[in-house]
Amino acid sequence: MRVDILSLFPEMFPPVLGHSIVGRARKKGILQVCCHQLRDFSPDFRGRVDDTVFGGGKGMLLAAEPFARGIDEISAHLGWRPHILYMSPRGKVLSQQDAKRLAREPGLLILCGHYEGVDERLLEEYGVEEISVGDYVLTGGELPAMILTDAVSRMLPGVLSEEVCFTEESHYSGLLEYPQYTRPEVWRGRPVPEVLLSGHHENIRKWRRGQALAITRQNRPDLWERLELTKEDRKLLETLDETPEF
Ligand code: SAM
Repeated sequence: MRVDILSLFPEMFPPVLGHSIVGRARKKGILQVCCHQLRDFSPDFRGRVDDTVFGGGKGMLLAAEPFARGIDEISAHLGWRPHILYMSPRGKVLSQQDAKRLAREPGLLILCGHYEGVDERLLEEYGVEEISVGDYVLTGGELPAMILTDAVSRMLPGVLSEEVCFTEESHYSGLLEYPQYTRPEVWRGRPVPEVLLSGHHENIRKWRRGQALAITRQNRPDLWERLELTKEDRKLLETLDETPEF
């Protein structure tokens, strides 16, 4: 997959996207990330990209034209138009389902806002999808673009060693993950739950499922409401409510 990023601060990306799993995916050629300086596409000879807001108000707004030129030039270079995303606190909050969906695109072009954001007409003209990383406001779209790139790249075939690395994780199937433990068996007087040392795969599976259900019910009522519980789930929860140490 190819990810192009249009930003006022393209130098922020390599230190983050050059390491660990995403860095390895890039080295293996599974993922290509190209960061572009928005000012390079400014029609203004000094590279100006912002202006005051019509109707008044504090702050500056990024103009449509530099982004439009960037999108057109990148698309012309590729010979096709990637799916265009604008990182925005107004957008749909990024979910694991979105990461999976976006990983099926051949390419993404991510627009990073700054200041007050970007001229609305750009979003209309190019049918841009707005994506948020959460209900809070950051200073720019660079960190959100890195989060999106990271989440999407983990879904690309060959990036994680096995599919089970993400199918059992939080959010993949609407549940949060169960607790996990490593050596030593007792740490500061806290033993690992006995069932995990039993080697009994079916009991371990049931314990994990029960814990995942309980954690989701406690931490995320919004996810809990959408869950379709099986007969086994209900039984596991009953046992858990009766014997909380289960
Ligand atoms: N005036 C905008 C609003 O109220 O919706 C906020 C602009 S914000 C200060 C500057 C830029 O940071 C945005 O254009 C966007 O690209 C990025 N940004 C800020 N918060 C974000 C979030 N939660 N998710 C995605 N991008 C965000």
